Amino acid sequence: MNIFDKFQPLAAARQSIEQQCSAFFNIVMEEIISATEAVVNGRRMILAGSNNYLGLSFDTDCIKAACEATRRAGTGTTGSRMANGTFSGHVALEKELADFFRYRNTIVFSTGYIANLAMLSTLVGPDEVILLDADCHASIYDGCRLGSAEVIRFRHNDVNDLEKRLRRLAKRNTNVLIVVEGLYSMLGDRAPLADIAAVKRKYGAYLLVDEAHSLGVLGENGRGLAEETSMEDETDFIVGTFSKSLGTIGGFCVSNHRQLDLVRYASRPYVFTASSSPGIIASTRKALNILRTRPELRRRLWKNADMLYQKLQNLGLSLGPESSPIIAIRQEDKVEALAIWNRLVEHGVYVNLVLPPATPDGGALLRCSMSAGHTSEQIEHIGQAFAAAYQTAQTG
Ligand code: PMP
Repeated sequence: MNIFDKFQPLAAARQSIEQQCSAFFNIVMEEIISATEAVVNGRRMILAGSNNYLGLSFDTDCIKAACEATRRAGTGTTGSRMANGTFSGHVALEKELADFFRYRNTIVFSTGYIANLAMLSTLVGPDEVILLDADCHASIYDGCRLGSAEVIRFRHNDVNDLEKRLRRLAKRNTNVLIVVEGLYSMLGDRAPLADIAAVKRKYGAYLLVDEAHSLGVLGENGRGLAEETSMEDETDFIVGTFSKSLGTIGGFCVSNHRQLDLVRYASRPYVFTASSSPGIIASTRKALNILRTRPELRRRLWKNADMLYQKLQNLGLSLGPESSPIIAIRQEDKVEALAIWNRLVEHGVYVNLVLPPATPDGGALLRCSMSAGHTSEQIEHIGQAFAAAYQTAQTG
């Protein structure tokens, strides 16, 4: 038996998708024109699935900061945070994040994926329990797998199910960490955080909220769902990423627990990987400053999101439960979803096509994410492309 034989089912699934739509595996951004446009396979396309919520990846001040820091401190740190990889920029960014979130302590990680890997594998040990929402991101599941805690899932956004499990665990008298997301990455729905915090308090558990998609998007100051629901005092740990609203790459955890710092010494994903480069850290600091000082970007993002949600709702499409910068269209049939995705590409619109098992309920999803950088004309174009793609689906 060949070492690759076990991938046979995967290879067959890939081949079947490729036969229906060869473009799916050949998306290469040949030229990036702006935060909302790129040339893909020779065709100019509107990016409507980039998670670039505030459109900051092309901000001139962020680019300038990255260039200056690269000239000053080089292209990379060539080391882990624990060795030669902690530069003054990393420390400054940690202070600025703590100040922004109004929490005492911060750790900056190399990606959001690594932040979840580090926190979940380290914080909760043997004989302790992680209670996670079933729709949590793969990085949360992988963090659980890397650690040694018992992992129990509760039904998505179902506080009764969560409480049932907490009640059972109360007899064990052990530490329990509840893990949810601020804005869920697939359907764009929020966690019922006030209710979750109430049961957390009742049973003396800890709460970690992944605000990857809600930083810069929710809350009066853009601090996320914990801010929007006034649950910051109840939230023990906020994890997030720089790869969405801040337009760079990296991750973080903020907390009021004084001992957060100890995670640095115990966490393999913190110790055994190189830290972010000076250019990335400098542009992230600039982007965080813009997020804080330009709330009009958040307002524009929501205006754009509401505009597209309305247009797609008018087309009678099966959307997620609420308007948000993540707008997902459910498509039961995978083959049909691929055909629609392909027609959108032909109309110059790139969205994410999410196929099972990555989807929450087994069907396929056409997932859009909106940006403050989208113009009204672009949103009009996206709406028209959907109308045309679905019209062909009905008549074709
Ligand atoms: N958490 C959630 C909820 C995410 O959606 C993602 C990325 N899509 C991550 C964490 C990982 O972030 P990063 O891209 O920085 O690794």
